Amino acid sequence: MWWMNEERQMIAAAAREFAEQEVRPAAKLMEEEEKYPEAAIRKLGELGMLGLTIKEEYGGAGADYVNYGLMIEELAKESHGFGLLAYLASELTLGLIEKMGTPEQVKDLIAKGLTGEKIYGICFTEPCGVGNPMEYETRAVLDGDEWVINGGKIFITNADIADTFFVIAKTSDYNPATMTGLTFFVVPSDTPGLTVGHIENKLGWKGSHTGQLYFKDVRIPKDAIIGAVDNAWLPLNVALLPMFATYGPMNLGAMETIFQKTLVFLKSRVQCGVSLWDAHESIRIDMMKMFLKIDNYRSAVYSALEDENRGENISAKAVALKMQGADLLEEIASQCIELHGGTGTVYETGIERFYRDAKMGTVGCGSNRTLINSLASMIFQ
Ligand SMILES: Cc1cc2nc3c(=O)[nH]c(=O)nc-3n(C[C@H](O)[C@H](O)[C@H](O)COP(=O)(O)OP(=O)(O)OC[C@H]3O[C@@H](n4cnc5c(N)ncnc54)[C@H](O)[C@@H]3O)c2cc1C
Repeated sequence: MWWMNEERQMIAAAAREFAEQEVRPAAKLMEEEEKYPEAAIRKLGELGMLGLTIKEEYGGAGADYVNYGLMIEELAKESHGFGLLAYLASELTLGLIEKMGTPEQVKDLIAKGLTGEKIYGICFTEPCGVGNPMEYETRAVLDGDEWVINGGKIFITNADIADTFFVIAKTSDYNPATMTGLTFFVVPSDTPGLTVGHIENKLGWKGSHTGQLYFKDVRIPKDAIIGAVDNAWLPLNVALLPMFATYGPMNLGAMETIFQKTLVFLKSRVQCGVSLWDAHESIRIDMMKMFLKIDNYRSAVYSALEDENRGENISAKAVALKMQGADLLEEIASQCIELHGGTGTVYETGIERFYRDAKMGTVGCGSNRTLINSLASMIFQ
């Protein structure tokens, strides 16, 4: 593969070893006990893997996005949900701070996140939805040297886990023409007035805790904001969209595991003295079609990440990768369960959980239906 070199092979091998030793047992507890994989996430930090793409001057490894993608792909081979949590603990939070924070915030928040000392969460979604800031009800008002936040958020990943939340709130009425009126706050989870509500019992991404947060007269210092007052929404969107590309390697890792498990099964399942693989041309054709789709998706993922390395704006490609990858993962998981017959539906076979996770990927962090709308407006203006 053209994107591989010696350094990248080493990173992929290190991530594979970590995934087999740490993620595999953690994934079992995520599925069976809804246990957040805290030890494995913090260990990723200790090993420097959360800060792979963060600049060296901030304590990161200064590696490029292909390296980062290879790491996420290997982690997601063991658990799509763990891949998501690793992404949240690295690029989605640390990368965001690096892009939008002041030098002091970058130093402080990144240093603590990099090592796994602090775990973060991002809070946008409200009962009105995520992409509808006009109707957000969470508001912050300046009172002397402090902001006072009131309102609530739903569907927040790490709701009962995070040490600190990055919270979007209205500081004036939202103006859709200028996308202004929203400010991005840094709120430690132990701030008085901040409480955790119900944690959802979800279809998939088990062990990733998604829940509600309530803000009642939550007071934070005046300077605990990222970016400018009233003007966070547009820069946040600009910063976040390219990061959707990370769903690419996440989906890819999951597809590869399911496909490989199915190949092994088909070659070893013998009926009337012949393996399913050898006996049925239609099965080989189905597998070949899936192989080609995965291979094409892999090329699209790493070519987008390489474009990002070159400084190109990959927002549209990133959105497409998230959307198409979620659909393809769902398709592959569905077919592979069928090809396994009864055993494919059984938890212990280790496939059905990827199918459940695939469905989560079509909704979480922007649903496929809303993303395709955004993509149309990005491409055709
Ligand atoms: C497991 C999980 C984890 C999450 N983690 C976080 C988090 O950490 N932080 C956070 O802020 N949010 C988080 N979310 C929220 C997530 O981003 C939203 O649930 C998602 O974007 C869909 O928004 P919604 O639930 O408000 O759906 P709604 O806005 O209620 O929409 C419902 C459906 O209507 C359709 N629809 C809505 N608007 C449009 C449109 N414009 N065009 C076409 N179709 C449309 C779509 O099919 C959509 O899926 C998480 C969600 C899940 C499920």
